[in-house]
Amino acid sequence: MGPDALTDLRFVGYRRKLIEEIRERGIDDLETLQMFDRVPRHLFLPEGVWPRAYEDGPIPIGFGQTASQPSLQAYYLSLLAPTPNDKVLEIGTGSGYLTALLALMADRVYSVERVRELSARARKALDTMGVKNVALLVGDGTIGWRKYQPFDVVVVSAASPSIPNALVDQLADEGRMLIPVGSRESQDLVLVRKTGFVVTEEVVKGECTFVPLLGRFAWDGEAGAS
Ligand code: SAH
Repeated sequence: MGPDALTDLRFVGYRRKLIEEIRERGIDDLETLQMFDRVPRHLFLPEGVWPRAYEDGPIPIGFGQTASQPSLQAYYLSLLAPTPNDKVLEIGTGSGYLTALLALMADRVYSVERVRELSARARKALDTMGVKNVALLVGDGTIGWRKYQPFDVVVVSAASPSIPNALVDQLADEGRMLIPVGSRESQDLVLVRKTGFVVTEEVVKGECTFVPLLGRFAWDGEAGAS
């Protein structure tokens, strides 16, 4: 990575174009859009895919995984609306790009990833950006991260056959969670809200395709591991 990768003007231009594309897809929440201007997505991706870093699409990041489509992540952020007081749990750090966006909006982000190499690469990119309010864990996110519960916001970036109980348990009062639920081929994006003892679920988007959540309370990690 060149020393000027952070400030490279070409990337600034590409980033503006990406924000336009996200806006065209119907996300007009200003605060969310500004975050996309502040995070250099290419830093979170393998150098080989840098030319496509600011396209609004999923991108392979190795280990059979993909970084999610930026406009979908913008949709996540606009629905979850993390505030500076919020504690966030992210399942599936992946590239760490959404982790960085969340870190700029929330008080602290706790992010779990099962692939050690991806977590290490995300840490490097977060350090390069100077992001300090993120804790990363290598492990199975379907059991959450009990030590730091409860969380105001829970973000699941991989598809699950059902909503893992531990994640609902670790949600704070007035907490909200987004998780893609369905088959391996197609999922509904479900918004879970907890108010007191009442938990509600609402499908906010159909026909999504995420990589599978592999773990104790999702699909069998061994059979599906890549
Ligand atoms: N938001 C990320 C999405 C990465 S894809 C990005 O844009 O880069 C989803 C990630 O979830 C993958 O990196 C995958 O390894 C991870 N994952 C799958 N099952 C998991 C589990 N049980 N616990 C933690 N991470 C998991």
